[in-house]
Amino acid sequence: MSRARLLVVALLALAVVAFFAAGGQRYFTFEYVKGQQAAVQGWYHANPWRTALGFFALYVAVTGLSLPGAALMTLLAGAIFGLLWGTVIVSFASTIGATLAFLLSRFVLRDWVQQRFQGQLAGINRGVEKEGAFYLFTLRLIPAVPFFAINLAMGLTPLRAWTFFWVSQLGMLAGTLVYVNAGTQLARIESPRGILSWQLIGAFLLLGFFPLIAKWVIEGVKARKAYARWKRPAKFDRNLVVIGAGSAGLVSAYIAAAVRSKVTLIEKHRMGGDCLNTGCVPSKALLRSAKLISQIRRSRDYGLRELNPEFDFAEVMERVQRVIKTIEPHDSVERYTALGVECLRGEARITSPWTVEIDGKTTLSTRAIIIAAGARPFVPPIPGLEKVEVLTSDNVWDLRSLPRRLVVLGGGPIGCELAQAFARFGSQVTQVEMLPRILSREDPEVSELIAKKFMAEGIAVLTGHKAKQVAGSTLICERGGEEVRVEFDRLLCAVGRVANTAGYGLEELGIPLTRSRTVETNEYLQTIYPNIYACGDVAGPYQFTHIAAHQAWFASVNALFSPFRKFRADYSVIPWATFTDPEVARVGLNETEAKERGVAYEVSVFEMAELDRAIADEAVHGMVKVLTAPGGDRVLGATIVGEHAGDLIVEYIGAMKHGIGLNRILGTIHVYPTLAEANKYAAGVWKKAHAPQGLLRQVERFHAWMRG
Ligand SMILES: Cc1cc2nc3c(=O)[nH]c(=O)nc-3n(C[C@H](O)[C@H](O)[C@H](O)COP(=O)(O)OP(=O)(O)OC[C@H]3O[C@@H](n4cnc5c(N)ncnc54)[C@H](O)[C@@H]3O)c2cc1C
Repeated sequence: MSRARLLVVALLALAVVAFFAAGGQRYFTFEYVKGQQAAVQGWYHANPWRTALGFFALYVAVTGLSLPGAALMTLLAGAIFGLLWGTVIVSFASTIGATLAFLLSRFVLRDWVQQRFQGQLAGINRGVEKEGAFYLFTLRLIPAVPFFAINLAMGLTPLRAWTFFWVSQLGMLAGTLVYVNAGTQLARIESPRGILSWQLIGAFLLLGFFPLIAKWVIEGVKARKAYARWKRPAKFDRNLVVIGAGSAGLVSAYIAAAVRSKVTLIEKHRMGGDCLNTGCVPSKALLRSAKLISQIRRSRDYGLRELNPEFDFAEVMERVQRVIKTIEPHDSVERYTALGVECLRGEARITSPWTVEIDGKTTLSTRAIIIAAGARPFVPPIPGLEKVEVLTSDNVWDLRSLPRRLVVLGGGPIGCELAQAFARFGSQVTQVEMLPRILSREDPEVSELIAKKFMAEGIAVLTGHKAKQVAGSTLICERGGEEVRVEFDRLLCAVGRVANTAGYGLEELGIPLTRSRTVETNEYLQTIYPNIYACGDVAGPYQFTHIAAHQAWFASVNALFSPFRKFRADYSVIPWATFTDPEVARVGLNETEAKERGVAYEVSVFEMAELDRAIADEAVHGMVKVLTAPGGDRVLGATIVGEHAGDLIVEYIGAMKHGIGLNRILGTIHVYPTLAEANKYAAGVWKKAHAPQGLLRQVERFHAWMRG
């Protein structure tokens, strides 16, 4: 705990101890307050402003320090100042006092509590971030929940102080009114217990739950409106129909079959979708061959004589197809049929919230629908581009001859992976990126490291270049007002992917899209029709196979068990990797994002060049960079650049998911000599920076004393 915090804790403890030691509690009994009524009223008549201000300050102090007595002071306010002024004074004083208590709890305890219980608190934090005002309002209106407990507990959450202030002001108004009003009759009240009748408590409860009830009602009305023009069938043939058999659709169907529902999976093209046929699988197979070529070329680095790899590009591309064929059975109709999924081939079209038509012929009725229609490469409207045969991640796998000069448009993960692979096969690659750096989602030094590696391998990396026009076999770019011309034989476009949202019923059903043109869903992955869900690339916001599969679990479970049980899709720990050489893997925040979002952080970096195994493997490019919350070892995010970074990052994914701090990573045995040791050494860098210097000085003295 920092010195400032310790000082505040000590002062608070002193104030509370002094209060009780001086017998302060005797002033906060009903009898005492009643007995003092006449005296205080006398002061008020003699000196109204001073009495009101003094009362106000005392109220703020009592509530700010979470001392008992707020309810009694509220009664007294009614007795002295009357209903109107009593309510005004107490309302503001109690809110200011509550906010002070909230801020004190936040300052003293929040970091420690959040760090200690980060795993358990993750869900609560998300709930508070989203609907904290609702929760607070409800709590404020339930008289059974003590005032001071709400202040202190809310201070430990991410709720904004301003939100806390105004919601408290509103939420406490009804209770304040009741107590101040009772106080106007203080002389006649025998005990404060009688003030709140059961009927009044019931009314408060109803008022407290009003915002939540209102939210459910609004959602219900919206759904009714969406369904209004459709006739719901009395019975359904199926529990679930899934559109698209890519990563999202396959996992959705698999889960539905595993819980014994009747599920149909419809695919118009190839089972496995993009990942198997045109995405992750072929790209990783291609990258592996390219890496082997690069390693053979580096034979001298490994103590071998100069070797020159001999290969035929067509054979490499055939191997890519062989890999797809080998994995294909995992995603096949046969496998999924055996698992209990009905697999149908054809183009699906949603014709009502409960019916799906296949190829305009067969119509299936279903209780729920999951849209898992994926995405496709985006080809920007650059003049002249339509006149050339553009390569994309869809058709690049059909190439059998290596382009001599290849332009790769786009510096994102797909563009980078393919640019490096083709350069290693021998294409003269020019990578064109509009932004100032490639891999722009990563930290600048990561982009720089990869760009340098690319340039060392002969790739011309043109960042800050905007593609303006294609004229024959020339790409014309603009850079700082100047024209740059790049000659090419083939042009590969990898500037992003757009969701498939047209032509299968979304327009007719009026299902809205987001600003990034993905299907709009709520946190349960429901569209405006609560029985129609979307997941995977078509829903976004993350376009990865593992996220598609992750969302699929929520979509299918919610589709099958809602309204009895439903789960919010959890995006708290999102990892990804770019499989360049070296690989770039990330989970959680990087430095750039932490700065953008104003999140306080500390950085610990361990360079791969220091790692024994990386040196032995001639793989010293890269680092492990970990962001932690200041004053603790909680991991906010990690970026790893290096050989097998995509595998190494798993340790930090686990750490973030399960609230494991760097101290515990450091205390875990890692096998020597492995690349995974880099994770532990990064934790060691953090530990060294946080070594208790004062204690070490004492220990040094102890050793000197021991030596005699
Ligand atoms: C080159 C490349 C490399 C990649 N590498 C990685 C990687 O290393 N790691 C990673 O995590 N992700 C990677 N991705 C991303 C990953 O491939 C996608 O995130 C993932 O495939 C999304 O799965 P999906 O199920 O949402 O969509 P898709 O796999 O696109 O599946 C959608 C399916 O729906 C079908 N469909 C669409 N409309 C209809 C209809 N009306 N009726 C019937 N069927 C329909 C389509 O034919 C398709 O098969 C890569 C992508 C590319 C292009």
